[in-house]
Amino acid sequence: MTAGSDPRPRPPAQTARHGRAGGGRRGAGTARGRTVTGVDWSRLPLARATVDRAAHRRTEPDLLSRAWAAPTTRVLLLSGGRLLARGEDVPGNPRPSVALDLRSPEQLHDVLGHALPSAPGVLVVFLGEGPQGEAYLACAFDDARGASVGLEGFPDAGGPVDLAVEGSRWVVLRDVGHALDDHDAGLAAAAVGLTAWHERHPRCARCGAPTVPAQAGWVRTCTADGSDHYPRTDPAVIMAVVDDAERLLLGHAVAWPERRFSTLAGYVEPGESLESAVRREVAEEVGVVIGDVSYRGSQTWPFPASLMVAYVAQALSTEITVDGVEVTDARWFTRAALAEAVASGEVLLPMRTSVARALIEEWFGGTLGDA
Ligand SMILES: [Zn+2]
Repeated sequence: MTAGSDPRPRPPAQTARHGRAGGGRRGAGTARGRTVTGVDWSRLPLARATVDRAAHRRTEPDLLSRAWAAPTTRVLLLSGGRLLARGEDVPGNPRPSVALDLRSPEQLHDVLGHALPSAPGVLVVFLGEGPQGEAYLACAFDDARGASVGLEGFPDAGGPVDLAVEGSRWVVLRDVGHALDDHDAGLAAAAVGLTAWHERHPRCARCGAPTVPAQAGWVRTCTADGSDHYPRTDPAVIMAVVDDAERLLLGHAVAWPERRFSTLAGYVEPGESLESAVRREVAEEVGVVIGDVSYRGSQTWPFPASLMVAYVAQALSTEITVDGVEVTDARWFTRAALAEAVASGEVLLPMRTSVARALIEEWFGGTLGDA
């Protein structure tokens, strides 16, 4: 990966109004001549959003200060990358069951002040605006600061998990993304990705001097040479490798919990197309030759900065040779064998928020387990 600091043209304004409940196209297509249903590729858990990013407002003078003073503003709180939320993820429940615990500025003024917070370890960014022009902000505390901020009702002790008020708690987006509604999923994905970028880019990649946030959190500017640095997104391919017998190849990566099997994935390298990356990663990790590659969908994976681009990849060979470095085990599964392995606990599937889960369930033809 390159350091990711070159100034680049301003991207076009991005809006996301496609997330109306029930408004998405139902995904349907064919895989090896078989109709596939059950996965709506336009509504992947972290590809949903309803709040307008309103990128044109980011350069407004004092946008953050004015939003911090406006009673209609809503603030998403993060601590150490975790989100303040309410509710529980109910396994098997297809309806949103977790909601962001958004606060109004006045609920935060007593403890964070009426002026925009500017203490070290506290970052405020502009996420977008609602239909009446109301602003959405994210206020992120780094780990140490989050533990010491005495938010009203927040015990001033322990780690970030102990900071939540009664009924709310700090949650990890990758665990609950699928359980948020479209509105909250979009806000959360943007907030987690953007604040993670700030945290990891405190210095200029050109000269090493400190950088400071600008444009309401969507740029960092070098304090020495004035260069602007933009949030980065690293494309990664993720692929359901399927053979002529419609078996699915799943692998176990060295970094994963025991028994976790998932689709293969890897970062796109400089000079490489997405399709080439699919073929290279599969060859490197399991030694299988790939023919046709067909695109399915994409979603952000801001842990910290990935964009997952999903494919179905047709295997031309079936002999598996794991690399032993990234992937330590890989197997071909029939649908019946995977269902049995999941039911028995022999295989743990990837989390519901992930693209991998969507790829697996599309191949399977329906939902699979509740893990
Ligand atoms: Zn610099």
